[in-house]
Amino acid sequence: MTSLDENLKKLDGYLARFRETGIRNRIAGEDADGSGGVFETISPVDRSVICKVAHGTAGDIDRAANAAHAAFAEWRDMPALERKKILIRVAEGIEARAEEIALCECWDTGQALKFMSKAALRGAENFRYFADQVVQARDGQHLKSPTLMNVTTRVPIGPVGVITPWNTPFMLSTWKIAPALAAGCTVVHKPAEASPLTARLLVEIAEEAGLPPGVLNTVNGFGEDAGKALCEHPKIKAIAFVGESRTGSLIVKQGADTLKRNHLELGGKNPVIVFEDADLDRALDAAIFMIYSINGERCTSSSRLLIQESVRDAFQEKLIARVNAIKVGHPLDPATEVGPLVTQEHFDKVTSYFDIARQDGATVAAGGETVGDAGFFVKPTLFTDATNDMRIAQEEIFGPVLTSIPFTTEEEALRIANDTPYGLTGYVWTNDLTRALRFTDKLEAGMIWVNSENVRHLPTPFGGVKASGIGRDGGDFSFDFYMEQKHIGFALGQHKITKLGAL
Ligand code: NAD
Repeated sequence: MTSLDENLKKLDGYLARFRETGIRNRIAGEDADGSGGVFETISPVDRSVICKVAHGTAGDIDRAANAAHAAFAEWRDMPALERKKILIRVAEGIEARAEEIALCECWDTGQALKFMSKAALRGAENFRYFADQVVQARDGQHLKSPTLMNVTTRVPIGPVGVITPWNTPFMLSTWKIAPALAAGCTVVHKPAEASPLTARLLVEIAEEAGLPPGVLNTVNGFGEDAGKALCEHPKIKAIAFVGESRTGSLIVKQGADTLKRNHLELGGKNPVIVFEDADLDRALDAAIFMIYSINGERCTSSSRLLIQESVRDAFQEKLIARVNAIKVGHPLDPATEVGPLVTQEHFDKVTSYFDIARQDGATVAAGGETVGDAGFFVKPTLFTDATNDMRIAQEEIFGPVLTSIPFTTEEEALRIANDTPYGLTGYVWTNDLTRALRFTDKLEAGMIWVNSENVRHLPTPFGGVKASGIGRDGGDFSFDFYMEQKHIGFALGQHKITKLGAL
């Protein structure tokens, strides 16, 4: 594993070109300035300016949407095997530049290399997986009747908009863009303003792999202008969005006039429920991993620990010791487990909950402080003695912050688990199979793991219920979103047609 100094030196080399030219938009295979001028992207590690970024607005979105529209027919009609080959070459390109992607992602977002070194490879896997699905994207069902052969086909919906957040931005972008391209859609991508670096690397890799100009376009900028314009654009047929729940509502409103199809992957306040009969050591490892890895800036994080009263003290004692031992540091230091939070704004939001917790009567059992003042570092934090009506139990904090809530009975655990606006994931720890079946049946979440941390399996449906989203990704579920079902009936003979106005 390379040292911090070696990583910094390599990063310096990778960033040199961005310091010189900034990050420009990419439309129809060409670099373009943003009509709103430029903005700066800031490193969360030391608040330094990384580079200037094109500030796209409605005019740039219009050009990108027209480019995606113009490129659509050729991409849609490209033989499936050709399309598959290009997507595999994108995966290979990502693998070849995995180190560059990982280092840039860490510097842009503050997330530790320990975790981000795998993110690029997961991005490649998203392309490889959906490359293999290309042929299936076209499959329809053939429904027989005596008079007609009914064929259902699927066609790509058209140019789509992809709007992504700043947490694990590379992986999440590939998670949307790979199936869209595999389905035969063209894309206008609006990455998060806080972390634009790796979206630029992705569009370069895709073009080098042979993606025709205009099939993937990247317009940088802010939600209220570039993002809004993308939702409103009449040539964009659907929006795949990942971000906050309240932004999800705006996406729906903004797309209403053009009857946009929306896929929303939104926030979470996910419970990990630990029963007294569970393998408590494994439950502890998983609970810690799911909230403190990736800085806790993950939608599927287990941010509420529901712990059975009979094992609470022993479990929390070990938990506190482990949380205090988590290594906070420079994201490019291979030993770092928690890096700085992504932006000043997000740092202010996360740290505000330290006071909110105290005011509401919870105990700050670990952390609850910032670290130094060079960047946006906070100590991994644990709140205990919480009740589920407190803000720290109801609101998505989106940092390395865990709220522990005790329960006595299974019924009480279920009531607490379901008592939030969200419903993305749930993690249940018990060795009682019947209880696991009963509990998961009633738990309000789109994805549940029993005796496991979150392990993503690409063909399975990914998505949330309640305020956590609408729609599913993964396997054929992705194609349900990016494609239209089309019915065609072929007459098998001369069946009777009712005559009107017969002479
Ligand atoms: P955000 O909603 O602030 O921004 C996400 C994206 O939307 C950015 O690109 C932003 O510029 C854009 N945007 C903002 N306003 C817009 C508007 N009016 N119209 C169009 N686009 C607009 O979210 P964030 O703070 O970047 O990301 C963190 C959030 O994302 C958390 O709530 C997290 O839970 C959620 N998230 C969910 C999932 C999931 O799979 N459910 C995955 C990752 C992150």
